[in-house]
Amino acid sequence: MIVLIDNGHGSNTPGKCSPDGRLREWKYCREIAAAVELELAVHGIESFRIVPESSDVPLKTRCQRVNAICAEVGSSNVLLVSIHVNAASNGGWKNARGWTGWVYTKCRERSRLLAQCLYAAAEKRGLKGNRYVPACKYWTANYYITKHTNCPAVLTENLFQDNREDVDFLLSASGKKAIVDLHVEGILNYIHQVK
Ligand SMILES: [Zn+2]
Repeated sequence: MIVLIDNGHGSNTPGKCSPDGRLREWKYCREIAAAVELELAVHGIESFRIVPESSDVPLKTRCQRVNAICAEVGSSNVLLVSIHVNAASNGGWKNARGWTGWVYTKCRERSRLLAQCLYAAAEKRGLKGNRYVPACKYWTANYYITKHTNCPAVLTENLFQDNREDVDFLLSASGKKAIVDLHVEGILNYIHQVK
């Protein structure tokens, strides 16, 4: 199984940071992705980031990179996780919170399983969906990256960059560890189940 990690956005993507500028989504997600990659290697799992650049690589290019690997090794031997931090609006601190995992509306069963594995690992660490959590424990949307990639794919929104408490948590050592660990554990559980 090859794990592909999309760390979303680039240094030149407008917005995408906490109101006080402490958390920049592109930078934070790269840090998390790099740590996930290292930790997966410890468990003997091959992974790599589809956007090693720090600039914003267009979604179409990112999907092409993923699908080239799918064509090479077979889609069922690949999985993709796109790591993000959510935002409720484009200005000021907000109250929205929560952890969510998103799959394409018409995705395959394996994407749903991967999302459920990730949610279970998040929930174990006290991170949950805000307000409404669907019984299936995943959310559906037509996000480009999950729609146009050929392998099981989940986009994770790891709390909110415009919630002050979330930002404090996300930037703390224990918060970073929780975000990294939930991805690693979710991915390992998924691999274990589909093997
Ligand atoms: Zn994002």
